[in-house]
Amino acid sequence: MSLADSLTRKNIQGLVPYASARRSMSGGNIWLNANESPFANRYELDDSVFNRYPDFQPKELIEAYAAYAQVEKTQVLASRGADEAIELLIRTFCENDEKILICPPTYGMYAISAETCNIGTVKVPLKSDFTLDLPAIEKAKKEHKIKVVFICSPNNPTGHLMAADQIKTVLNLFADSAIVAVDEAYIEFSAEKTVAPWINDYANLAVLRTMSKAFGLAGIRCGYTLANENIIAAMSKVIAPYPISWPVAQIASQALSVNGLERMQSQLAQVLEQKERIVNALDQLEYVYEQLPSASNFVLFRTKHKKALFAALVEQGILIRDYSQQIMLDDSLRISIGSEQETDALLEAMRAFGDTL
Ligand SMILES: *Cc1c(COP(=O)(O)O)cnc(C)c1O
Repeated sequence: MSLADSLTRKNIQGLVPYASARRSMSGGNIWLNANESPFANRYELDDSVFNRYPDFQPKELIEAYAAYAQVEKTQVLASRGADEAIELLIRTFCENDEKILICPPTYGMYAISAETCNIGTVKVPLKSDFTLDLPAIEKAKKEHKIKVVFICSPNNPTGHLMAADQIKTVLNLFADSAIVAVDEAYIEFSAEKTVAPWINDYANLAVLRTMSKAFGLAGIRCGYTLANENIIAAMSKVIAPYPISWPVAQIASQALSVNGLERMQSQLAQVLEQKERIVNALDQLEYVYEQLPSASNFVLFRTKHKKALFAALVEQGILIRDYSQQIMLDDSLRISIGSEQETDALLEAMRAFGDTL
């Protein structure tokens, strides 16, 4: 064991880091594995301020996002991606013997962030129809000290929304005891389903948002927490002193301008058009025996030939994501929706694969 290994905290020694698409796969020229936007937009930077530290929370950015999300400025905290917000919630609210609750299959970073903070994770799997198992959540609440509950809606990697009444039940169940974080990383693809307005009614609700998906800005690392100002104030004690760099603030503010929002909406519409094509094609392919209805910019489907299909696509430079090792996701692969040309290439390769069977 190296010196570094022997000095490393016990909970980190055994930790398997998040296998992000960029970290676990390389090569390829059509990337449909990280739910990114296929559109690379251009921005202008004012470099006259780079000798100065940025504002703790860049004013223009916070105003723009509050207006976009239809909440008050005091109800927004910008962070280095939604991923940082996940960790901030855990570091702000969980004591050593307290736990988070997640409902797998879901986004992997909740459990990994908890583990890096030496906080336990209670897993209450979704029911077979992918709805929340409310009786099991209630039981878990009695058996563990749960401080943060993560609900992902639309859920990654299944793509479906959680029902509003189920989310309300969870908020009420934990009204006095835990923060309920609703991760809306993909909400632009089902915008009318947001629970953001509820932050005025539920003192324990935090909504997580990101610029990484519909806004096409995964590369700048910018996300938000929407919550009542007491939650925002608590998280503001823990966040780094200058979490949002000037370039990030400038780019994100432009993306949230009137023109930026129009462009986002038009690009989103194009992504949804391509999703329609992919959904229809998956319906037609005989070797696909199920696909889950998607409220997001990706589609999860099942095939008995997942390994061979995955490899055949890699052969064509097309990277998708294998979720078949996860609970309830036997035989499952996930496709992120790309551009029209990328969809052409994907569907051609998927049809050609069918011909080889
Ligand atoms: C992509 C994703 C995130 C991470 O967002 P960043 O802002 O890029 O950190 C968070 N939650 C879910 C469900 C995601 O899919």
